[in-house]
Amino acid sequence: MAKTLKYKIAKSMGKLTYKGLKYLLTGGKAYPGYIYLRINGVDNLNTLVKDQIKTGSILITGTNGKTTTTTMIIDLFSRDFNVTKSVDNNTIYALTTALLSKSADIGIFEYGIRDIKHGQPHIVQKQVQPMCVVYTNISREHTQVLGVKNSFKDYIKAKTLLSKDMKDGIVIVNADDPNTTYIGNNKEDNCTVIYYGFDVDNISDKSIGEVLCPNCDKPLTYTHNFMNQRGIYECDCGFKRPEPDIKVTHIDITDTQMNITIEGNVYNVNTQSKIPVNVDLTLPPFGIYNIYNVLASATTYACYSETPDEINEKLASYYNNLTFNILPPGRFEIIDYQNKKVGLGQGDNGDALNANANLFLQEIKSKPYEFIYSTPDVNEEEIFKDHLEVIKNHNPDFITVIPGRVSVDIARNYYEQMKKEGLNCTFYPIEYDFEKRINEIIKLTQKSEYDNVLITGCGEEQAVWDDVKHKLKNDL
Ligand SMILES: [Zn+2]
Repeated sequence: MAKTLKYKIAKSMGKLTYKGLKYLLTGGKAYPGYIYLRINGVDNLNTLVKDQIKTGSILITGTNGKTTTTTMIIDLFSRDFNVTKSVDNNTIYALTTALLSKSADIGIFEYGIRDIKHGQPHIVQKQVQPMCVVYTNISREHTQVLGVKNSFKDYIKAKTLLSKDMKDGIVIVNADDPNTTYIGNNKEDNCTVIYYGFDVDNISDKSIGEVLCPNCDKPLTYTHNFMNQRGIYECDCGFKRPEPDIKVTHIDITDTQMNITIEGNVYNVNTQSKIPVNVDLTLPPFGIYNIYNVLASATTYACYSETPDEINEKLASYYNNLTFNILPPGRFEIIDYQNKKVGLGQGDNGDALNANANLFLQEIKSKPYEFIYSTPDVNEEEIFKDHLEVIKNHNPDFITVIPGRVSVDIARNYYEQMKKEGLNCTFYPIEYDFEKRINEIIKLTQKSEYDNVLITGCGEEQAVWDDVKHKLKNDL
């Protein structure tokens, strides 16, 4: 394709902006991409992709675990390939900025999609033409995007569109999650689909209530739950959890580490055949949900490894050296604060809240605890419903309900519903002001009568969770 003058201008303008930005201390990470797309239009993004990426691109999407999975994939691939990347800021502007920043063999991009209009997944697919799309899991999250309510069905559809028109390549999906499995099932005709999942008896979660079949909308039957909607499921219509190509066959958790075994066979593009993976890993005790992130990233790397004979050694040398630093800033963490164990971090959907609670309970070993619950906003009743299911399952000894988003009134309303459910709770209103919310959360922690305090739910990732953590850590 001949490169137009407009393209050349857009590229050099974008690049210039990028160089300029290196001297700025804060903000504007995605600005060069924004400039490029403003001048040249998203419909011409493919010219830049072809110009800058030699081998191909990998897109990572899902509800939870995107950032961690993407970070792990980037780390692994960077050992063998020249990589350009975008992680954490998962917009098309960040992706374009990464393309402008350097030419590379492989592009690795986290891509979060809340809805079709803003995420434009079909356009991103068409323009980036990924060689691989990785799905972590799909559960209900904040369904309101810029004031417009988005149904869970539309949310799934938006994620589906990221791989829907792929003519070849690899789609990697979580077999334990019915929604990602359904996406995989529908790609089997034209792509290589790789399913990853758990095959362990000692990891089980309480059922979270009804999960609908993505094929026929009837409730699925679960014979085992690993974590929330992830488990072994089937439906009358014939839809069921597939046998994973690669799986975690052993999980052993101690206070200081998690030992796991990954086994299976995955398609490798370089040998054009299936290669065996069989490796024992020792990980930091960062929770079950991160084992899924390890499995998803290890699977992706195995598909593209240029030295399949050494795959087990390479995986071990990376994962055995992981620390908690791999996790993103708003992440859930357990810290010692004034003789208390405090677990805190973002949990802005049922899935994430449950993962946080499980990690905390594993640490405090069923001792009594207070739960400071930070609520969703107006129009986020679905999130609240999912949160409520998880909270009822765990039934904390005492709950303080605080507003996590803008509306204090809706937080009170959620509190009243919790009280009706018989939960032992109280309401603590704090107006919408980050400074006040941070200080009040710290005060509540200090004056809690419990030695163990769990603080999670909705809230600003950096502006609230990271700040509270920082303050507690520096005020031991
Ligand atoms: Zn069905």
